[in-house]
Amino acid sequence: KSFKEYRLSDEIVKALTSMNFTAPTEVQSKVIPLVLENKDLVVKSQTGSGKTASYGIPICEKVDWNENKPQALVLTPTRELAVQVKEDIINIGRFKRIKATAVYGKQPFAKQQAELKQKSHIVVGTPGRVLDHIERGTIALDKLTYLVIDEADEMLNMGFIDQVEAIIQALPRNRVTLLFSATLPESIKNMTHKYMNKPSDIEI
Ligand code: AMP
Repeated sequence: KSFKEYRLSDEIVKALTSMNFTAPTEVQSKVIPLVLENKDLVVKSQTGSGKTASYGIPICEKVDWNENKPQALVLTPTRELAVQVKEDIINIGRFKRIKATAVYGKQPFAKQQAELKQKSHIVVGTPGRVLDHIERGTIALDKLTYLVIDEADEMLNMGFIDQVEAIIQALPRNRVTLLFSATLPESIKNMTHKYMNKPSDIEI
């Protein structure tokens, strides 16, 4: 397997080379082509499998640099993961000059609000703070076409699932939804039925 199969733009290929990503991992070889086709996915995979880049690569490929409003939203259970995902996305999108913004609690709201007003292609955040921005109208949602729910089972364990649902309900219906989870308890399966469009199941 090679990244060449996906016909990615030169900017993304160059970034992967600079990151020493020579071949896709298993989850990447399954997820990247389907996201490039705008399919909804439920992916059962662990951390360390390369799952961040499995959605980061195709989303960075699809982002339109000229559109200033957020085109993708990634929800994570923790601040630490939000920051890590943002950094991974910045690395993948480096040569395309993709702007990513992280929003999470315990950081001044106004600073994030100012960042969201600037060009911000991809927003990564924890559910509570993302919902705060949605309720205060400080995040534009009308150009949002990708939603990633990362570590969905952890969000459930941490009691964030109602907030995740409230966020989903505020998003445009016409979007691609990708859900990643190490386990798939009943309440997460229910969510996939309720909010996703004929998702393919991928198990690593
Ligand atoms: P993740 O599962 O997203 O936390 O990724 C685990 C680690 O694998 C991270 O340090 C990534 O930078 C690295 N990684 C992801 N994809 C690849 C790849 N195709 N080749 C080499 N390293 C990778």
